[in-house]
Amino acid sequence: MDPIRIAIVGVGKIARDQHIPAIEGNPNFSIGATVSPNHRGPEGIPHFSSLEELIEKGPAIDAVALCTPPQVRYDLAALALSKGMHVFLEKPPGATLAEVAALESRAEKVGVTLFASWHSRYAAGVAPARAWLAERTILSAKIVWREDVRVWHPGQDWIWEPGGLGVFDPGINALSIATHIMPRPFFLKEATLSLPANRAAPIAADIEFCDTAGAEIHMDLDWRQTGPQSWDIIVETDAGTLKLANGGAVLTLPSGTEHNEDMEYPGLYARFANLIRGGRSDVDIAPLRLVADAFLRGKRALVEEFHD
Ligand code: NAP
Repeated sequence: MDPIRIAIVGVGKIARDQHIPAIEGNPNFSIGATVSPNHRGPEGIPHFSSLEELIEKGPAIDAVALCTPPQVRYDLAALALSKGMHVFLEKPPGATLAEVAALESRAEKVGVTLFASWHSRYAAGVAPARAWLAERTILSAKIVWREDVRVWHPGQDWIWEPGGLGVFDPGINALSIATHIMPRPFFLKEATLSLPANRAAPIAADIEFCDTAGAEIHMDLDWRQTGPQSWDIIVETDAGTLKLANGGAVLTLPSGTEHNEDMEYPGLYARFANLIRGGRSDVDIAPLRLVADAFLRGKRALVEEFHD
């Protein structure tokens, strides 16, 4: 089968660190072009400053990977779908729930693949954690995602703007794992979002969720962490404690710690190729819905101004 000619749209940190190497390592794809207003992709690959310019002047493209901030993703996805291209959406899939739903029905109408990717679900410990929890009774769970925004998001102004999600930009990764591994659906009971007086998006959030059997799930997100960072999910069950550490990479069960191969972005591109070849889409909005509920129902607490 001919490789799928893919264009990378948004040549920023995640495109350079993960998408380009994962695509180059997958024989189902060849990079046909890159698109970004200010930054070029790898040497030798045709580059365009906008998707419109690629469509007008560039080589034939079968699919796009949208690696931009979420606020501009809908327009890019709608344009790509209107040209019959398959679309890979980085997380979060959009800036609003309704725009993602509109893209999903548009993709179905056109007959192409829309993939709302959640890279953390492909972290090494996640699939075995899901399998282990499927047979257990959940008593409670704790999600602790504490990192230093100055280290991980330097100069990313979009992340503080409406639609940028603030601390939920990493926090939604935790929710993508939790919604995947927990055997029952869960929903928000209460939340406090801490907003710096000079920013539009939260720097921290404290959330109580509850699953449909009444088990409490507490989530602690904080971007002000210095020193050791935490990306942990701990689940208490009738058979002991499960801990997923390092963003889902390391799984510890009562029987010991498991070391599995990390497959995040290679796993995502294997899935995207399968979806395209099989003529299907995969759009799970559960993590974004929980974030939207936190903005809908959460209390706001003003905290001190944040400066880079
Ligand atoms: P970033 O470094 O700020 O890069 C975003 C890029 O998007 C910029 O380089 C910008 O291009 C480009 N862009 C903006 N508007 C565009 C448009 N209309 N058309 C084409 N390109 C456009 O951000 P990032 O960290 O890579 O994050 C991007 C997305 O990936 C976010 O949704 C984020 O949540 C997700 N993600 C990030 C990470 C991570 O570790 N950083 C991990 C997983 C997922 P120019 O530079 O050319 O102006």
